[in-house]
Amino acid sequence: MFKPKAIYFEKEIENYQLGKELLEKYKDTPKIEIQNHNAIEEMRKKENKEFLNMKANLIIGTRKTHKFVENHKISDYLVPYTSSGCIAACMYCYLVCNYNKCAYLRLFVNREEMLDKIIKVSNKSEKELTFEIGSNSDLILENTITKNLVWTIENFKADKGNLTFPTKFDMVDEILPLNHKGKTIVRMSVNPEEIINKVEFGTSRLKGRIEAINKLKEAGYKIGILIAPVIFVENWEELYLELIKRLNEELTEKAKKEIFFEVIFMTYSYVHTKINEEAFPNAINLYNKEKMTGRGRGKYWYKEEIRKEGEKFFKEQLKKYFPNNEIVYIV
Ligand code: SF4
Repeated sequence: MFKPKAIYFEKEIENYQLGKELLEKYKDTPKIEIQNHNAIEEMRKKENKEFLNMKANLIIGTRKTHKFVENHKISDYLVPYTSSGCIAACMYCYLVCNYNKCAYLRLFVNREEMLDKIIKVSNKSEKELTFEIGSNSDLILENTITKNLVWTIENFKADKGNLTFPTKFDMVDEILPLNHKGKTIVRMSVNPEEIINKVEFGTSRLKGRIEAINKLKEAGYKIGILIAPVIFVENWEELYLELIKRLNEELTEKAKKEIFFEVIFMTYSYVHTKINEEAFPNAINLYNKEKMTGRGRGKYWYKEEIRKEGEKFFKEQLKKYFPNNEIVYIV
């Protein structure tokens, strides 16, 4: 169970039920009052090597901007929801691009406001919309601290529409008995065991993630599998083939029948390189000069020929081991 070193909180959270509950839950943890969760001077001044120590704290405030961003992959909108940042530390985490070393977990207690807006937009729309509520954090992980996911699934009482989120965690037991009405799509993110061990620090192991998929399917949830991010390490073909075979062997027939796949190649950045060098000096280097190329604003992605090779590999192998399952996209 996560025990924060300190709680940084906006005074306003005392006006919300969840804010009160969290203050009570962490009543014995040192507290520091802040004006704004986006501007904690003390954190900004810390060095990159403090990255993990910074993630040992919990920041609690209210979300002030609620702008939905159109999306055309798996959902219709990316919705800023109850948290941003994370207490785990995957070396490629996309949140580092947005928050730099301040990618620690922030919780937002005005959840009623956020869910109400989703329900209103959903009910107003003529077509059935899907809202991505986990693009800024990992909601299965967050749920172990706030129970927000349980609350969300129970209170998503829109006439139509779906919620979706990705996760790298297996603590799904609390959402299994809920009356989700088939309106929540969980997308489990997987990588070969070796990559999880060397790169995805603090996340659930592959075995637990596969078991979680089986349990969620048994509980009637719609499930997707994200093979993401694909990292083209030296022996990538061998590792990803092993992963696909393992999914084929360990997923239940019920799960295999209905899952869909998304495949995403890793993107990386100069900021990641700097933070990882200082925070994880003994870890592997994910930047590969031969295989990557610039993408503007300090970002890198794999060169076209590598991506093409990857695309061909995943299309072929998924077709072989999962012939009846849709690959929604490979990017
Ligand atoms: S679990 Fe997700 S949000 Fe957390 S560090 Fe890893 S990639 Fe980032």
